[in-house]
Amino acid sequence: MAQLDTLQKLEILADAAKYDASCASSGTVKRDSAGQSKGIGSTEGMGICHSYAPDGRCISLLKILLTNSCTFDCHYCINRRSSNVRRARFTVEEVVNLTLNFYRRNYIEGLFLSSGIIRDPDYTMEQVVAVARSLRQDHGFRGYIHLKTIPDADSGLIRQAGLHADRISINVELPTASGLSRLAPEKSSTRIEGAMQSMKGDIEDGHDARKRFRSAPDFAPAGQSTQMIVGADSANDGDIITTANRLYGRFNLRRVYYSAFSPIPDASAILPLRRPPLMREHRLYQSDWLMRFYGYSPGDVRDATNDAGMLRLDIDPKLAWALKFRGRFPVDVNRAPRDMLLRVPGLGVKAVDAILAARRWRRLRLADIGRLTVSLAKVRPFLLTEDWRPSALTDRADLESLLTPRAEQLELFAA
Ligand code: SF4
Repeated sequence: MAQLDTLQKLEILADAAKYDASCASSGTVKRDSAGQSKGIGSTEGMGICHSYAPDGRCISLLKILLTNSCTFDCHYCINRRSSNVRRARFTVEEVVNLTLNFYRRNYIEGLFLSSGIIRDPDYTMEQVVAVARSLRQDHGFRGYIHLKTIPDADSGLIRQAGLHADRISINVELPTASGLSRLAPEKSSTRIEGAMQSMKGDIEDGHDARKRFRSAPDFAPAGQSTQMIVGADSANDGDIITTANRLYGRFNLRRVYYSAFSPIPDASAILPLRRPPLMREHRLYQSDWLMRFYGYSPGDVRDATNDAGMLRLDIDPKLAWALKFRGRFPVDVNRAPRDMLLRVPGLGVKAVDAILAARRWRRLRLADIGRLTVSLAKVRPFLLTEDWRPSALTDRADLESLLTPRAEQLELFAA
């Protein structure tokens, strides 16, 4: 490996980390204090992404790999053993110093650290843990730390990771065991889920210990998460959502992230040539949200898919479900239970809770609902109010076209 300085390593290892969606990036304006007399920090730092703290704050993290060398050869990964990319490796001290320096300059509020596998899983995991331990114990670092655990690493090492990190995660990578064995032959879904099970046990033990002894160490207080690659294998959206639901239930995950597969240079011949539409990723996140906060089962989401088991790209899954099951509508806002109100397209959780609170005192009219939703036109066919009855609206053959945004020709040089 050629001798690289820290900045060159940062360029390579921040770029190599960008494929991991489980520390979600979000766009922001470009801002920089360089050359200014006032201010500190920048939104353009290499490898800086945004994530959400357990209290809901959006925080910026230094998102890097310890190394992009890897002994594994997962077909979808740019860092795989057979990939022809520039390799780099940080030392533990380099990652610690970078994190502290960026933190002091107010560029970041924490660290997201992952790694390719060097030598063996235990050795790699020891290095990752050593970074977190040094930050916490040697430097009293109190910022957010998200550590990606290494598949097949010893559970004792993963436990140590959880003692220093706010969040730990391991990627299931693909929605089906057959997809994983085809595209990542050195990984095993049984072993990955075994690691998730043991992290779940450690997180629960940590919570119990904290209830009994206030001085007990907190184990991964922001819980565990995982990521699935979408569109690299033949799994359809129904399969993906079913797997996500099983993972939430079995391992008490905080989040499942969906990452649309992106074709990589010198890609393996067994991968698709094109990436799936980004809208597919968005529809999966919407379905995930429906299951976690709106009481939809994976079966309900499957019901909203087409014959190929795919979610529609032109309308959201909640509207797709409502259009398929028109017989369940209209819903009377003055009488319906919460779970049916949550099925009305255009009504969110906050709006439904406001309806439930308000209807204890008076009967609600359409104008009341209009104040709780951004699109009364979308809601109207699906509900009854004191002064509104959609008559045969839900039976209209053209209902879908009334609710679907019309496709527009975009102007190439529009301002
Ligand atoms: S183990 Fe991780 S870094 Fe290594 S090839 Fe597989 S996905 Fe890439």
